[in-house]
Amino acid sequence: MLKKNKELCPICNESIQKKGIKNFNLNETTVTDSRVTKNGSMIRRRRVCVCGSGYRFTTYERIYRPELTVIKRNGQIIPFNKERIFQSVRIALNGCVDQEKKTEQISNEVNEKIQDFGKDSVPTKTIGEYILKALKEKDKMGYVRFYGVFKKVTDPKEYKRIVDTLH
Ligand SMILES: [Zn+2]
Repeated sequence: MLKKNKELCPICNESIQKKGIKNFNLNETTVTDSRVTKNGSMIRRRRVCVCGSGYRFTTYERIYRPELTVIKRNGQIIPFNKERIFQSVRIALNGCVDQEKKTEQISNEVNEKIQDFGKDSVPTKTIGEYILKALKEKDKMGYVRFYGVFKKVTDPKEYKRIVDTLH
């Protein structure tokens, strides 16, 4: 039984027709067709097995993105949650006329920047800076509010300084 098993191709499980094959892996198989799937998210490849059995099969190649994490100030690592950004922005925009719309817009913008950050982990400080920058451009009041929370401002003079930078 064992001897017979040795003659089977580890890729297609058919009996091996070619002699002296060293590498039985997907890289050694022959690609007969390669195209992007309809929605553009994957590459589909038609392949023929290396073993000489003529076995045809398909592989799909897709982008693998590891779960994004956030590094907190205390060093703790938590899963990234878009909802947290939304909530922070929403609070900063309290009392704003189009609070919901603006919150959605700003948090989407910040989320995009985080996705483009290019690393698997993003420090909370970086996320905070992104939120600050977006708020500064879109809502001055929200910017001052968020600044106070984010930078843990306790001195009113510091607020005055921040407001002064806006003019
Ligand atoms: Zn094979």
